[in-house]
Amino acid sequence: MPSSKGYATHSATSALVPFTFSRREPGPTEIAVELLYCGVCHSDLHMARNEWGQSIYPLVPGHEMVGRVTHVGSAVKKFKAGGVAAIGVIVDSCRHCPPCMRGEEHFCEEGATLTYAAKDRVDGSITMGGYSNNYVVDERFAHHVPSNLNLAAVGPLLCAGITTYSPLRHWKAGPGKKVGIVGLGGLGHMALKFAHSFGAHAVQFTTSPKKSEDALRLGADEVVLSTDANAMQAQAHSFDLILDTVSAPHSLDDYLTLLKQDATMTLVGLPEKPPSFSVFHLIGRRASIAGSMIGGMIETQQMLDYCGQHNITADVEVIPIQKINEAFERLLKQDVKYRFVIDMDSLK
Ligand code: NAP
Ligand code: ZN
Repeated sequence: MPSSKGYATHSATSALVPFTFSRREPGPTEIAVELLYCGVCHSDLHMARNEWGQSIYPLVPGHEMVGRVTHVGSAVKKFKAGGVAAIGVIVDSCRHCPPCMRGEEHFCEEGATLTYAAKDRVDGSITMGGYSNNYVVDERFAHHVPSNLNLAAVGPLLCAGITTYSPLRHWKAGPGKKVGIVGLGGLGHMALKFAHSFGAHAVQFTTSPKKSEDALRLGADEVVLSTDANAMQAQAHSFDLILDTVSAPHSLDDYLTLLKQDATMTLVGLPEKPPSFSVFHLIGRRASIAGSMIGGMIETQQMLDYCGQHNITADVEVIPIQKINEAFERLLKQDVKYRFVIDMDSLK
């Protein structure tokens, strides 16, 4: 494999800078992909700054990749050279534990291999992510992209898309269900599109009054400013499911009071500090707090196929890689509509 070019950070407090490295040769069941686009997930920012305490440097972020296949190993069946492939948050797993056997590799009992800052199962090197010009991956962990979709807007489906599609399916968002989405960022805007598409009554909670019009356009039946106590009170005891995508520390109490009896608040956002809540809000309605992480390889392909059939992609702002540090700062100011995507042409 020729050497790879990308952007890396070398510590929790430094900016991302140009970085060259090498990837291993693809094996018989692996493909090499020349990356065209990579989405910018808030997890990339948490990891670049070691907010979860598991980062390894130098760290090349990026797990929302779309690219063109440049090489297929001798045993590869799913892809041909020249085709398009998409790669998400995990790139390997043990492949023999019960969740892996079910195609739920993200729940691998030995721990799935993350796309970056993780130990590669093949050669023990540290994985480097998609803010770069290429990737090498086993075909099991790469996906087909429906041909009608815009490739720049497909990248974010590989994380923001599947992370919201999977819990909305699991908790059966659909006709007759009232579903709340907390936070209108990369994950939130995909959650809204899916909840609307599945036929649920979708309510967007936001701290940003200026996002109201966009939320309605993206599929919200109602928009609630979460800082308005009266507007929040008016929604009490009415939700079947609330999906929390917020990236910063916050209390869950204001939302738990909005659940119906036996309803669930599912957390997908991963703030640096754990959320706070009062148990009284749970016992008073036998409510559940749950969590959900991305999705397995089978469901990820189902999600992409569903997006192809329903013409769903992310709303993106395409940036050159040289603007990545600025994009991180804008994420922190809630100033993204609604996913930054890096155009890898800018690396050339
Ligand atoms: P994002 O685009 O930055 O969106 C986060 C949204 O949260 C913001 O747009 C904002 O929405 C809201 N928010 C931010 N700060 C807030 C605050 N102080 N108080 C209340 N609301 C606030 O981030 P993202 O890429 O969607 O990621 C969201 C979170 O999900 C991150 O923590 C990320 O690490 C996590 N994540 C988890 C998984 C998983 O598998 N579970 C996968 C991917 C990402 P409003 O302006 O509308 O209030
Ligand atoms: Zn992500």
